[in-house]
Amino acid sequence: AKESGGDTFRFYSSEMNARAVSRMDMEANLRRALEQEEFFIEYQPQIDLITNKVAGVEALLRWQHPQLGVIPPTQFIGLAEETNLILPLGEWVMRRVFEQCVMWKQEGYLPFRVGINVSGRQFVQPDFVDMVCRLLDETGAAPELLEFEITESVVMKDVDAAVLTLEALKKLGINMAIDDFGTGYSSLSCLKHLPLNRLKIDKSFISDLQDNADDRAIVEATIAMAKRLELGVTAEGVETEGQYGFVQKRECDEVQGFYFSRPLSPSEVADAWLIKR
Ligand code: C2E
Ligand code: CA
Ligand code: CA
Ligand code: CA
Repeated sequence: AKESGGDTFRFYSSEMNARAVSRMDMEANLRRALEQEEFFIEYQPQIDLITNKVAGVEALLRWQHPQLGVIPPTQFIGLAEETNLILPLGEWVMRRVFEQCVMWKQEGYLPFRVGINVSGRQFVQPDFVDMVCRLLDETGAAPELLEFEITESVVMKDVDAAVLTLEALKKLGINMAIDDFGTGYSSLSCLKHLPLNRLKIDKSFISDLQDNADDRAIVEATIAMAKRLELGVTAEGVETEGQYGFVQKRECDEVQGFYFSRPLSPSEVADAWLIKR
């Protein structure tokens, strides 16, 4: 194995014994990181395919580790969920993003939507909606500009409970999107009854559009279905002109992906994409 601190993470997914040790290390690391606020958030633009302007951004969490550098969420969200650290971490994200929304507003930018990833663990907490309510109060963020992103599996695990939570969030004015759509196993008849605003087509269907006829069929059908259900639809992970052209021709609403922009710092987003009133 190669030696830098980065190995803690590779270890973590390789061998049982080593895994247990470094898992504890990682957990301790995460706890410390929370206390020290070693996290920060980047925002990736979502572009409206009719106006070619920014319709929203998605907040994406990063960990600025003092030795290891920037660690992407795929490397620590899983552990944060297993250890329930996702609860304080998710609350930190929400507060930070709400505050950022208020700052952008104060700086005079025209309003735009801000997406926040919500882990299943958070979503099923009995006090989740109360927490959101409290953070809205404390920060003054505008709920109608917020969009929570949850995956199909979170909804399907307990549909009745999910409906109650979704309805409570809707009452607060918050928008809801299904993230990574197509990778779960949600029943469409069920989705129809949920108070949702948007489907986000998973990037695994977009990446192979050029070569894979099945993916083309899935993307086409998903866009058409979303429109029939009067949901917004976003194509994620759009990297090429060809992918952009494909979803644009099918009248997808929005795209998010490296073709337009990587995730950026708040000031970079503002400089490159936001419009002052
Ligand atoms: P996601 O919600 O599906 O977020 C989109 C991911 O795709 C982001 O990865 C983004 O940087 C990446 N991406 C965007 N455009 C492109 C593209 O054109 N090509 C490719 N290959 N990738 C693209 P990131 O930031 O590493 O986040 C990974 C996942 O971590 C997210 O997937 C989400 O599930 C989770 N995550 C991120 N932030 C949070 C958070 O605050 N809370 C929770 N619970 N999960 C988060
Ligand atoms: Ca997401
Ligand atoms: Ca996604
Ligand atoms: Ca994902």
